[in-house]
Amino acid sequence: MAVAYYSGLKRVVERLKSLGQDSRKDKIAEDLYALARILANMMIIATEKRRNCMYYNTEKGYCQFIGLETPIHGIEMVFDENARRWRIVVLKHPEICAVCPYWELRK
Ligand code: SF4
Repeated sequence: MAVAYYSGLKRVVERLKSLGQDSRKDKIAEDLYALARILANMMIIATEKRRNCMYYNTEKGYCQFIGLETPIHGIEMVFDENARRWRIVVLKHPEICAVCPYWELRK
């Protein structure tokens, strides 16, 4: 996942550079590389947090802590019949785990 984010942004940078030499484009390319590195690191940390989190449902790939009344557009979610709440499939969205304050170590 981290590699995908990084290579996606890297492609954008390469396209930008192919437009020709310009100091502003070079600066934008530098900034995009920096952003790509930050995102890639976030994904690595998120994957590790998710793996060790007591709220991560390893069978179904969703977070058992965060439960929403309505689904969020653009985020893969499943409806938890028992809790009557929408759960985020963090397997597909590790970025949620990266910034999550509810993380607790799996025992
Ligand atoms: S979103 Fe937070 S609580 Fe849920 S699995 Fe990820 S780190 Fe754990």
